[in-house]
Amino acid sequence: MSGETEYAYVVEGKMALPYQYFAGAVGSKFLIALRDEKRILGVRCPKCETTFVPPRQTCERCFSDLTSHWVDVGSSGEITGYTVINYKEPYQPKEPPYVLALIKLDGADTPFAHILNCADGAQPAIGMRVRAVFSKEPKDNILAISHFELEP
Ligand SMILES: [Zn+2]
Repeated sequence: MSGETEYAYVVEGKMALPYQYFAGAVGSKFLIALRDEKRILGVRCPKCETTFVPPRQTCERCFSDLTSHWVDVGSSGEITGYTVINYKEPYQPKEPPYVLALIKLDGADTPFAHILNCADGAQPAIGMRVRAVFSKEPKDNILAISHFELEP
């Protein structure tokens, strides 16, 4: 190998690919209730009593099977964290800048991330009350909830 140059050439890049995601039985039931009934469903663990939104098949705390323990949760809740998205990437749900918030719905123990629209320059803060605004057209994904807004 003497005299030869070894190359270890790494090209940095990003790809944005269309894809299909199999939501599974639990995720499908959650998304169909959102789309068709504007209901937000969670699952409540019969053993440790944790309510998960979005629902999951197995309790992450005690490993119980959760697939038949559905509960309705509220469409309002509170902000447990947030960030402002300032960069633009393909397939973002909206044009930046926008607020992505962690929202713990009433009746749920776990937060999930969604878009938070703050009207008239209002600033989000942890603990603020928010409510879901459902999409006017049926959507087969989490954007069946168009966004959350601050409660007046
Ligand atoms: Zn549990």
